[in-house]
Amino acid sequence: MRYIRQEVFSEIGKKGQQNLSQSTVAIIGLGALGSVSAELLTRAGIGKLILVDRDIVELPNLQRQNLYEEKDVGKPKALAAKEHLKTINNEVKFEVFADDLNHKNIDQLIPIKKSIDDKNKINDKKNKVILVLDCTDNLETRFLINDFCIKNKISFIYSSAVGSKGYIFNVIPSKNDPCIRCFLKEAMQLDTCETFGVLNTITNLISSIQVNEAVKIILKKSNIEKNLLFFDVWKNELSKIKINKNKNCNCCAKNNFEYLDGKKFSKAAKMCGDSIFQIKTKSINSKQFMELKNKLKKNGKVIDFGYCVNFDDKITIFKDGRALIKAKDDNEAKSLYSKFVGN
Ligand SMILES: [Zn+2]
Repeated sequence: MRYIRQEVFSEIGKKGQQNLSQSTVAIIGLGALGSVSAELLTRAGIGKLILVDRDIVELPNLQRQNLYEEKDVGKPKALAAKEHLKTINNEVKFEVFADDLNHKNIDQLIPIKKSIDDKNKINDKKNKVILVLDCTDNLETRFLINDFCIKNKISFIYSSAVGSKGYIFNVIPSKNDPCIRCFLKEAMQLDTCETFGVLNTITNLISSIQVNEAVKIILKKSNIEKNLLFFDVWKNELSKIKINKNKNCNCCAKNNFEYLDGKKFSKAAKMCGDSIFQIKTKSINSKQFMELKNKLKKNGKVIDFGYCVNFDDKITIFKDGRALIKAKDDNEAKSLYSKFVGN
């Protein structure tokens, strides 16, 4: 009875519903996009969700991260999400990791079909991830997911939202279809939700489209979206952007999985006993440095030392791309960096 409205919808039907209940989806990132997509899939009767997030719930999250409540502030998002999702639909299985997804743990956190033997174990079908939702906030993790999914031929759905704008793109690994590295460049990303703001309307819209595409991919429908979708909810703009496969793409054309192999891993290394971590990235030019300073100013106190800036006594960014971060551990350092600086 629970899924009757979906079963009556002819594109899903009883058979489609059964298929959903036997499928496992991994959601990476449980912020605005990930938490809403997790809720929609839970209500829709997905079989199992694997949820991964390294952050804790903070008060400014409640404006758009529908799953969390005031009492969750301070809790790891992965655990808070599971608690709420269980009360919505106890039939769904959940596996949660309050952890930073990286090249060392991705194989364990996202279990996939690897051999023909696995295929024959029908009972095991529920436990193998058939689709990944990329709901992260940083390019490094996105490119890691991209490498992993292209290499293992698993579909994933890229989603992002900042300000009033959002993007969705289905990556279906095949000889002729593009991946996200075909159109996203490694250049420094300066717009983050912390420095640019984000509306709860765009994140909810993007999650709705993402879950819709997820259901179509799981049910192997013929109308899976091939274009990059762009929405601006403030201007009511919608564009479908055709993405061509880049014949020189490092990932999907050359199968050079730099992020999965750990060659591009930005390690937040502990420096001394004083809880200071260093993150090394590409150097930034003067214009980018100015822009970064202006954006950080909206969020806290910025002191400009010429060759570096200090933000809120938490992050010091040098022009050579180095950042020193005060944090209690490696994860918090990376999290602060991607929130306030970007990639
Ligand atoms: Zn590519």
